[in-house]
Amino acid sequence: MLRSGPPAELDKVAAKARGLREWFRAFVQKKKGRALTAGDLSELEPLNSVLQRDEQHGLLVADASSASGLAFAMQRRYPTAESLLMPIVEALAKLVCEEDFTYVKACEGPKCTLLFADYTRGHARRWCSMAICGNRAKVAAHRARLKEGKGG
Ligand SMILES: [Zn+2]
Repeated sequence: MLRSGPPAELDKVAAKARGLREWFRAFVQKKKGRALTAGDLSELEPLNSVLQRDEQHGLLVADASSASGLAFAMQRRYPTAESLLMPIVEALAKLVCEEDFTYVKACEGPKCTLLFADYTRGHARRWCSMAICGNRAKVAAHRARLKEGKGG
């Protein structure tokens, strides 16, 4: 259970979370387009340094989907405000282990900072979302064609 810390402590954790986000965005931008290898491990040290402070333990729980009706689950303790970073860092760590960076792309939307994994056939996806950046690009291309049609 989380003991609520003073707001300043939560502000510090929020700043750390934003720092991690920016660090991870830069990491993915740099590594996208090729599969990660063990050689990339040293650059992932910021994740390991947080993960080493994690407080998790195993727990037997009821699980209707298992034959025994029981399952072994991991449960996390949140003794400090900083421990709120753990689920985020765990998700990032799992992502670098499980995602093939060969298919990771940056959205081509001019103002968009989103990254995505392109598992479409032919790997020709260009936008984070067809409904947002894809549509903006279509509208921009349409306007450009209209302008050209009028002679510039
Ligand atoms: Zn986008």
